Amino acid sequence: MNPIKAISLNLSIPLFISALFAVVIYNTHKIPEILFDIVPYLFYGLSLLIIWVSWHFNRNRFIFVIVPLILIYLGFEYFSAKKATLLFLYASMLYPVHLLIFLILKERGLFSFWGILKIAFFVIEIAVVLFLIYYPKELLHGYMKIKLFAANFYPLKDLSVAIGIFVLFVMSALVMFGRYLMYSTSFLSLLLTFYLGLYFLKTPHATEVALLSFAIIIFILLIRESYRLAFYDELTSLPGRRALVEDMAKLGRKYSLAMCDIDFFKKFNDTYGHDTGDEVLKMVASKFAEVSGGGKAYRYGGEEFVLLFPSKDADESFKHADALRQNIATTPFSVRNNKSTKKIYINISAGIAQNSSKDKDSFAVMKRADNALYKAKKAGRNQVVKA
Ligand code: GH3
Ligand code: MG
Ligand code: MG
Repeated sequence: MNPIKAISLNLSIPLFISALFAVVIYNTHKIPEILFDIVPYLFYGLSLLIIWVSWHFNRNRFIFVIVPLILIYLGFEYFSAKKATLLFLYASMLYPVHLLIFLILKERGLFSFWGILKIAFFVIEIAVVLFLIYYPKELLHGYMKIKLFAANFYPLKDLSVAIGIFVLFVMSALVMFGRYLMYSTSFLSLLLTFYLGLYFLKTPHATEVALLSFAIIIFILLIRESYRLAFYDELTSLPGRRALVEDMAKLGRKYSLAMCDIDFFKKFNDTYGHDTGDEVLKMVASKFAEVSGGGKAYRYGGEEFVLLFPSKDADESFKHADALRQNIATTPFSVRNNKSTKKIYINISAGIAQNSSKDKDSFAVMKRADNALYKAKKAGRNQVVKA
């Protein structure tokens, strides 16, 4: 997928939720009051669900993102007006940075060394905020009064807006460079929703609706993450075998399928080591992902890939599979070998089969493609053979 398409696809879902939130806020007077009464309960319920699912999937970053919000909301509800105002100030400065930190930090077990370090960091954050709420510091408030912008963002202070813009900038850069795209795009929307929620603090129900939108964005991200875990291969980011089986069940009357295998890969591993082998596998996979002719690539296992060509016959798919073979064969891959970098070339062989009335099911087509692959290997490799 090209980067622009990937970014817009990933951004569209969370931004849609943020936009929906904005629409609701502008139309609160048209919405029956009773609907807003249940919003906090929906937020708590969804948050608990997020914590439970994150815990089970070992995706703890969501726990660190949602728990502070629950605490902030409880603070708004139960602190005195003066303390709540202070909480608002500190949260508006600290939480965006918190969000960025937990976006970037790697996922680790909650009770591993790094997990405990994260918990400790979070506890310190809470302690510092509570300390400053109970023993406000004049000096800090001096800083907060600094004017940085001509515009007024009341009730937000200029300093927290500046911090927000900085975090927004870093997150946008992560999105642009396609770093953890699924996450960075969602976190970008979370940041916007958070600030909108704070900015519209005085609008009735805005905070609650913002929190609910926030939880919905995280929940959708969790669902997408579990989908990715189930259907995508971790090393190459290509769809894996389970996705292939699902897609094979959806094929129409005519299709063809290519079984592909890297040539002499065992020897490559023996020469350059397994880690370099993994790197090369990733690069080869990225070439597979760009296959033309409406084909879709899957990592079947090890150094074997499958190309599915829905509604294409064997001749048409042959052209695209062979173009891919050539593309891989002529692309130099840089590998480090004893401190020097070397350019090496990788070949693949492939076997193609088109479905026919004789095939019992798509697995029979696959079997024939596999036989054709075997012939390609026998005939000297670096070639595509039709069944
Ligand atoms: P050919 O297919 O041309 O007959 O020779 P080959 O050496 O590639 O033979 P085969 O397909 O039987 O061997 C596959 C090798 O690929 C075995 C293993 O060393 C390597 N391999 C499989 N999966 C991975 C992986 O995930 N990472 C790395 N680095 N190597 C892998
Ligand atoms: Mg193999
Ligand atoms: Mg091989």
